[in-house]
Amino acid sequence: MKPSELEQSKTATKVIKQNETAFGETVYHTDLKSLTLAQLQTAMAEMGEKPFRAKQLYEWMHKKLARDYEDMKNIPASLKEKCRERYTYTSLHMLQVQESAIDGTKKYLFELADGNVVESVWMKYKHGNSVCISSQVGCRMGCRFCASTLDGLERNLLPSEMLDQIYAITLETGERVSNVVVMGTGEPMDNYDHLLQFIELLTDENGLHISQRNVTVSTCGIVPKMRELADQKLQITLALSLHATTDEKRKKLMPIANRYSLDELMKTCAYYFEQTGRRLTFEYSLVRGVNDTKEDAEELSALIKHLNCHVNLIPVNPIKERDFVQSERSAVEAFKNRLEQRGINATVRREMGRDIDGACGQLRRRHIETAEKQDKS
Ligand code: SAH
Repeated sequence: MKPSELEQSKTATKVIKQNETAFGETVYHTDLKSLTLAQLQTAMAEMGEKPFRAKQLYEWMHKKLARDYEDMKNIPASLKEKCRERYTYTSLHMLQVQESAIDGTKKYLFELADGNVVESVWMKYKHGNSVCISSQVGCRMGCRFCASTLDGLERNLLPSEMLDQIYAITLETGERVSNVVVMGTGEPMDNYDHLLQFIELLTDENGLHISQRNVTVSTCGIVPKMRELADQKLQITLALSLHATTDEKRKKLMPIANRYSLDELMKTCAYYFEQTGRRLTFEYSLVRGVNDTKEDAEELSALIKHLNCHVNLIPVNPIKERDFVQSERSAVEAFKNRLEQRGINATVRREMGRDIDGACGQLRRRHIETAEKQDKS
């Protein structure tokens, strides 16, 4: 092993060790909007309240999208007071909205109760509105081309903090959200328990009731958690960020590849399909001269052809801190055609909102950089 590889592998091991302690931890018991209806019913019983209060509160939070206890008309002041004493009430503060003049895509910057900021994106498609949410403040996965990971992980988001990105956007746009993708900042499998709780709340018939089939979770490939998710047999779509076709190349782009081999990943993807019957999505960001050649397309086809899957090709979004260059349009088309000739379904992801801070995590970074500059001056 070369010294640089050794260094990478050490980083990856450290990442996973930290993960394993973080995985078990659930910290949302005192956060009202993070509780399921059943948990809220238990909470009401413990407070000596009537059971129907749980449903009322739940509907105020998850159906009528109340921003505050003040909005809840039929809840007695005494119950609101008890809730205030025992629970936090999460409502994200919208700091900024950028709207694309090209396609109406909107990027939102939200402030959390502790002053951290996260970003989300709203996209309008023919088949409905889609929101891309963040699952963590920052990220520790260290993918080389990604802006979200440059400062590491700050903390996990609570289930309510994931949900409220969608709620606040629904209120701001006045339109129903039909699709949710967990593809913003963060690694959702690194915040697994909160992710599952979030999905339960999001898809619950007493809340926004978004269909599981309209939820996509994207991961860099944390194998044990992908397996656990498969065992849940949810009807959500799992997207795997592949980006390379050999372990050697993948390690250069994604430190997580030092921990899990492509062989293990492919077996896990097959297992996900076996358990859920859901077609997988592979994300493949094309970087000029790094992973976009004819050989790469052929290797990719060989790697995934036995799986029921779809490939999303994303011309890499350059970030100023790294020197990755986007593949040429002709290389992207040729790559797509090669996959299709081999019977693999592929689409080139339309670049939404090119004119507003493009890549994942850039809006948040810009905000932090500006705040730091102001502090210094
Ligand atoms: N951590 C998860 C989800 C967040 S990233 C994951 O790794 O899948 C969402 C997707 O955007 C991933 O496929 C990621 O690799 C990709 N991505 C991140 N930065 C990018 C960039 N600058 N250009 C293109 N794709 C990028």
